[in-house]
Amino acid sequence: MSTKKTTVMDGLFAVHCGTPMVGTIMFSGAEFYCVKCGTSQGMFGTMDTQATPELQRELEENEKKFREVAADLIPAGAQFDKCGTCQGKKEDHRLHASHEDLEKSDKAYQKLYGGIL
Ligand SMILES: [Zn+2]
Ligand SMILES: [Zn+2]
Repeated sequence: MSTKKTTVMDGLFAVHCGTPMVGTIMFSGAEFYCVKCGTSQGMFGTMDTQATPELQRELEENEKKFREVAADLIPAGAQFDKCGTCQGKKEDHRLHASHEDLEKSDKAYQKLYGGIL
């Protein structure tokens, strides 16, 4: 009896439309984001696939692309370590963020909703 060993890594990847999803806290209630079609889903909305080095590489690429856009996001309820007002007042960063920053955040969210590939 021989079992063919393919290169499979430990763990599972959340995959959507063939694309490994990026884990993120930028969408409330949805921990995963698909860079290809722009959908975001929670733990239970994803399809799990056995991790492979190919998927791992693809995921790293996707994470890089996501981070470029996500840098501008200001999610509801978030407090930023780098922001003195967040740290001092313990309030939602959106409540004291500048108009420009909120606009940048909205644009970044809109971009993400369409997918970024
Ligand atoms: Zn997708
Ligand atoms: Zn703040």
